[in-house]
Amino acid sequence: MDREKGIIDRLFDSSDASDEELRLLLEADASIDAYLFQRADEIRQKIYGKEVYLRGLIEFTNHCKNNCYYCGIRCGNRELERYRLSKEEILECCREGYALGYRTFVLQGGEDPYYTDEMICDIVSSIHGLYPDCAITLSVGEKEKSSYQAYFDAGARRYLLRHETANDAHYRQLHPSVMSSAHRQQCLFDLKEIGYQVGTGIMVGSPFQTTEDILEDIRFMQKLDPDMIGIGPYLTHPDTPFADQQNGSLDTTLRLLALFRLMFPYVLLPATTALGTIHPKGRELGLKAGANVVMPNLSPTAFRELYSLYENKICTGDEAAQCRNCLERRVQGVGYEIVTSVGDCAKFRK
Ligand code: SAH
Repeated sequence: MDREKGIIDRLFDSSDASDEELRLLLEADASIDAYLFQRADEIRQKIYGKEVYLRGLIEFTNHCKNNCYYCGIRCGNRELERYRLSKEEILECCREGYALGYRTFVLQGGEDPYYTDEMICDIVSSIHGLYPDCAITLSVGEKEKSSYQAYFDAGARRYLLRHETANDAHYRQLHPSVMSSAHRQQCLFDLKEIGYQVGTGIMVGSPFQTTEDILEDIRFMQKLDPDMIGIGPYLTHPDTPFADQQNGSLDTTLRLLALFRLMFPYVLLPATTALGTIHPKGRELGLKAGANVVMPNLSPTAFRELYSLYENKICTGDEAAQCRNCLERRVQGVGYEIVTSVGDCAKFRK
């Protein structure tokens, strides 16, 4: 335990540790967690105080041309009813969100060629025109650099694209061979070069994931220097090839959140919906372990159930206002406070 405490203190002071030290922390028993979470929270409070930022999530299409083995909206899932939101429906979500205090909108969807670059640019610039004080985030997968540039020119400033796993062999175990980790990582560097604030991340406990894979993920993130790291437990979906695989664990997800807070002090760390799905207090526990963002759903309730990345997703029946109030209570319940600002990564604050 003294050895682990020493490593945690060094992470606190220098934000880095050797592979061997990180391996030790990743594989330690639960006795290290109280101290780990306490030190992570100390850093978080030093940089972000008790603030928790809101991102309004608009899941605008569940059509996807990809066939990722873990994901419920993969094109190979014939059991799923598919939907798309029109521009007007998306703008209606923003209108409702704005009234509830949201100042960041995240447009997420499967990779759906129905939405051409022109359509995405039109949607982005319309939101930008109506709500110039809001940040627009896109999360629509791997695109050409020229497309990313066009979305940026239309007003998008943030992009979420989890690298999923930095280990190439592991990536191939999770995705069909037409996809590659090299391309996904290239997309992230393209986005950074254009000037986006980027979010990357992984699923914790995805099938075949090893401690060594997680170490590679950490080293990749150090190279990328992301503004956001989105992690949640892998949750199995019955209509995928991974139907028989086990869920990831709450404890490992919390431990990684704390490690990321210590290693990337400035990063935005969401307490994700997957974390809230695996445990009723998952998001609260995430906030106490270093997370500082929540992403409530703004999608119309009629479609929530259909954006089924995994099973038993929470909040599918709640109206936007209910989600907003529920989260406010949850965040306050663990001693933090929701702030309604664009909530930039602290790196960008002067
Ligand atoms: N098409 C977009 C958005 C994907 S969905 C893209 O490619 O980025 C957003 C994230 O949900 C994915 O990056 C993945 O990490 C996560 N996800 C997908 N299936 C999941 C599952 N079964 N359990 C937990 N998280 C999952």
